[in-house]
Amino acid sequence: MTKTATASTALTPCPILIGDSWSVPDTPETSPVLNPSTGELIARVPMCDEAIVDDVVQSAHAAFEDWMETPPIERARVLFRYKALLDANFEELAVLITREHGKTLTEARGDILRGLEVVEYACGNTELLKGESLENIARGIDCHSVRQPLGVCVGICPYNFPALVPMWMFPMALSCGNTFVLKPSEKVPLTSIRLMELLQEAGLPPGVMNIVHGGKPCVDALLTHPLVKAISFVGQSQVAKYIFETGTSHGKRVQAAGGAKNFVFVMPDAEMDKAVDGMKDGAFGCAGQRCMAASTAVVVGEQAADAFIPPLTESAAAIRVGACDRDPEARMGALITRAHLERVESLIEMGSQEGADIRLDGRGVKVDGCPDGFYLGPTIIDHVQDQMKICHEETFGPVLNIMRFNDLDEAIEIANRQSYGNGACIYTSSGKAAREFSHRIKAGMVGINVGVPAPLAYFPFSGWDYSFFGDLHVQGREGMQFYTRAKIVTSRWFRPGEGDIWHKD
Ligand code: NAD
Repeated sequence: MTKTATASTALTPCPILIGDSWSVPDTPETSPVLNPSTGELIARVPMCDEAIVDDVVQSAHAAFEDWMETPPIERARVLFRYKALLDANFEELAVLITREHGKTLTEARGDILRGLEVVEYACGNTELLKGESLENIARGIDCHSVRQPLGVCVGICPYNFPALVPMWMFPMALSCGNTFVLKPSEKVPLTSIRLMELLQEAGLPPGVMNIVHGGKPCVDALLTHPLVKAISFVGQSQVAKYIFETGTSHGKRVQAAGGAKNFVFVMPDAEMDKAVDGMKDGAFGCAGQRCMAASTAVVVGEQAADAFIPPLTESAAAIRVGACDRDPEARMGALITRAHLERVESLIEMGSQEGADIRLDGRGVKVDGCPDGFYLGPTIIDHVQDQMKICHEETFGPVLNIMRFNDLDEAIEIANRQSYGNGACIYTSSGKAAREFSHRIKAGMVGINVGVPAPLAYFPFSGWDYSFFGDLHVQGREGMQFYTRAKIVTSRWFRPGEGDIWHKD
């Protein structure tokens, strides 16, 4: 492995990986990686162009045939070794995530753990890859199916889960026999680089996994490259839609997950302490930068409002906001960039101007010793109405809207007007309300008394509508189906005397 850093030695190098060679290309443009807790510059990402993308894709293409022919169990063995290396380097990775993303160490550990579970699931992919067969589809004719890999697959990632989202993609793609090009978020590239180093250490052959950095020009070059067969994308919905349309119009298979606005219902018969705890974690965990964040509390009835809103506000106000890379007591970190902080603050202001009540205002929160960090405290906006813009726009910050309704029917009807369709949840002790809600709510992942639930590795991450573009989601059996295609083999076996070349009369 050659790793040449041309950037300043004070900064963490941000190399690309082509085959087994790491290098930092001398690109005209770079993008800064900041520690959100302090605003400090920690790395510079080379913004790669079409020519570099071509080199990376060619490397993945050259490695494909041999990797495809590698028996699935041998491919799985690499992933078993990778899993052991992830375990051994778990804490180091968590510290790195906290530094480049700003989330708490506990949240960073969760980020890795959820990804590690996909690696574990992919280790058993030999079972999913088995095809089907049926004898005598006509007399003497049998049929069986096999699943074959696609070729070069690409993963384009967002910033909010630096470990999990890449691991949604490449473990399954590789275990199916594909080669891969990863394009991490330019805001958090360092975790992906470390994940790739560990994959090399696990014994993955050169070229099977490659990494390139950049923004739109780099992504466009990947979307249109003739050797790329499939694209997995996670990010904002308008970008996801663009990726889906551009990729599919160039003949690629595309799965593109987008943004969300998740509604969490609180019924008068809910166990209120559990609903308060769940909402606090759902709305303010990861500083709200989760596609499964609780964005809107839908409180049904006066009684629920009185029992739920005051304790939630009190508990949210007590959350310690801090620099998670140096303050072990911090329970909520900074937002990713100043521009994102300002965007979220402007949405809070918009809510106020639209007539909602800012019940808890996190703007202007100060963190000792970190005047240049991108901090926003927990914020609660009450009396949000359907016609307000803040009701429908993804905030992606520690901001919880509250909507009040008198009955469940009306609340479901309004929630279903959302264009997004990722997750939803209800807190209730009524089986009837839970059944009605889970059947009628327009969302692909539904929780009952558990918060907005992100499914584990063996179920698909099932966003709907404006939260997902494509047919097959990441994770579970759908993940395997996305990264393979079926071949149906129909064969006629001659009986003795009917022309069998091996049979001598
Ligand atoms: P983003 O869309 O800005 O960036 C994602 C990736 O797309 C990055 O690698 C970026 O370089 C690239 N990109 C950005 N703009 C592009 C353009 N115009 N053309 C081509 N490529 C472009 O997303 P983000 O801000 O990094 O991540 C946050 C978003 O991701 C939120 O909307 C969140 O809901 C969503 N998200 C969704 C899920 C899910 O499963 N549905 C999971 C995690 C995050």
